[in-house]
Amino acid sequence: MGKVRRLMWGLLAVAVLGMGTALLYKPVTTAPAPAPATPTPAPGPLTGVTLCVDPGHGGYDGGAYGASGRPEKEINLAVARELAEALQNRGARVILTRDADTALADEGRERKRRDLQARVDAAEAANIFLSIHMNEYRTAAESGPQVFYRQGQADSRLLAGFLQQAMNAALAPAKPRSAHTGEYYLLEHLQIPAVLVECGFLSNPAEEQKLLTADYQRRVAESIAAGVEAFVGAEKPMKTGKKGRIE
Ligand SMILES: [Zn+2]
Repeated sequence: MGKVRRLMWGLLAVAVLGMGTALLYKPVTTAPAPAPATPTPAPGPLTGVTLCVDPGHGGYDGGAYGASGRPEKEINLAVARELAEALQNRGARVILTRDADTALADEGRERKRRDLQARVDAAEAANIFLSIHMNEYRTAAESGPQVFYRQGQADSRLLAGFLQQAMNAALAPAKPRSAHTGEYYLLEHLQIPAVLVECGFLSNPAEEQKLLTADYQRRVAESIAAGVEAFVGAEKPMKTGKKGRIE
């Protein structure tokens, strides 16, 4: 074999080897798999339960204002996000009625009623409804969390009792309150266990300062989640959502 031919054979061998190597080692795909639309939580005491968590107010509707000037809608959302996480950590699925500073209805007639109805509609697939709010009163002395339920709804009353007990135990208010009946559009229009949680008073400057901290917001959320866990433990089997509920 002449020098040139040997070189040709050599090049051919290198080319064939190279092609073989290229076929063997396919490039690794680096694109991440798309995240599922609703993350499936790890199993826990609330597995199989779907909760609708409703941060009160939003957008044009700030809710109550304390001495700091920070609107209730902001604190409601912060607590609701922490609560959603605490519930998911216990295995629950969570629907947030809003996850941004927005109202749930466009401008126009009966805006507030349409906003509230959108929150009711969001709970259609849920087993439990929790609306998160901050309280206010004309005097600064009032403090502490209080849970409201609709009169005549036994399940809601039970849920409110468990939540009130868990919040009082974890947050140790100076004057522990009892769960109470309340007339609210949301509670009137829901058939599942539904409560409105007033986490504390923005009209009390000391309590407002606590409610503005991430640490206390997390403690409030954890106490609500603990109350839900106690309720679900006592209340099995759960009713399903508004449409397909079992009476
Ligand atoms: Zn409110």
